[in-house]
Amino acid sequence: MSISYEFIAPRRILFGWGRRREVGSLGRTLGRRAFLLPGSRTLVQQGQVAEIAEHLRREQVEPIVLDTLSHEPEVADVDRTSQEVRRHGPSGEDFLLAVGGGASIDLAKAVAAMATNTESPTVRDYLEGVGKGLRLDRAPLPVLAMPTTAGTGTEATKNAVISSYDPPFKKSLRDERIAPTLALVDPELSVSCPAEVTAASGMDAITQLFESYLSRKAQPIPQALAIQGLQMAIPALPEAVRDGGARPSRERMAHAALLSGMALANSGLGMAHGVAPALGVHCRVPHGVACALMLPVALRVNRDARREELALLAHVLFPREATGEADRAIDVLLEHIDVLCREVGTSRRLRELGVRADQIPAIVAGSRGSSMSGNPVELSDERLTRILEDIL
Ligand SMILES: [Zn+2]
Repeated sequence: MSISYEFIAPRRILFGWGRRREVGSLGRTLGRRAFLLPGSRTLVQQGQVAEIAEHLRREQVEPIVLDTLSHEPEVADVDRTSQEVRRHGPSGEDFLLAVGGGASIDLAKAVAAMATNTESPTVRDYLEGVGKGLRLDRAPLPVLAMPTTAGTGTEATKNAVISSYDPPFKKSLRDERIAPTLALVDPELSVSCPAEVTAASGMDAITQLFESYLSRKAQPIPQALAIQGLQMAIPALPEAVRDGGARPSRERMAHAALLSGMALANSGLGMAHGVAPALGVHCRVPHGVACALMLPVALRVNRDARREELALLAHVLFPREATGEADRAIDVLLEHIDVLCREVGTSRRLRELGVRADQIPAIVAGSRGSSMSGNPVELSDERLTRILEDIL
């Protein structure tokens, strides 16, 4: 079999406990002025944003702190923030610095593109499948991403997910030039992440590792990364949820999340990530919570189509128990994922998340994004409807 692929990742990755203190010198390699996007009020209140601004100033980088965004970015958030950046007359010496969860990093990536591409005042016109389908003519501003939750891996991906509730959609701005130029991953920043968010974002990372591994668009480098990511994340997540200050678990989860971003950016995903955005816009289910619920379902739906891959994962991840023939090994893997879901408190029924039966047709219709196209098994609307009804 011939091997042929392309691999996209940030130009430079710095990973390590306490390494946020290197943000000044790292930022200086991108420019002289940083538009700083904080992802939560807690980061501002605890002084972490002020600390980052101080590190920048020490290296002669001027920080401009923009509004805090603490929800998944909507079209209006991107448009408002882009306008503000444009008011400052962005130049080649400017960059975006996002410190926060996936929401603030996605916002930074979209704003970085909109700051230099002014053909339309709204990001909507650049999103996949909605708007005018405009492309980015000019290179976006560079982005330095500092994730504070271990989950989406968006510090390493080439898309930004943007929501709208009226009309309801959740779509990507996708262009390899919006992948962050630099990723500075300091797992210590995730220590203050509450247990519930740790669980949901951790399950998002684990879902991304599984789905990219099994995807129809799976690639060799991402598959290698996914194995290491899963080996670290599956045992570490319950401990990170129980004890937020446990350094080894926080480190393993932050590393696994970063790997999951590199994996999905190159391999695509599957049905859990196909359904999650629809649950988000129609039922306001947070991304990680939706992924956590859908992962065990997606593994079972794709079990026969990816028997060999799942058996290999089972043997590698649970070598003592998953011995012998493939089906028995896959049973062991699925049992472990069920135990993990119970340990971290994942919802197993859509109803627990406020989803009603009459919303299922809209969820099915809204699940047809690019993630679904990577699912190993082709799912008709009827089949997907039955799957969702079974977990209502
Ligand atoms: Zn995800």
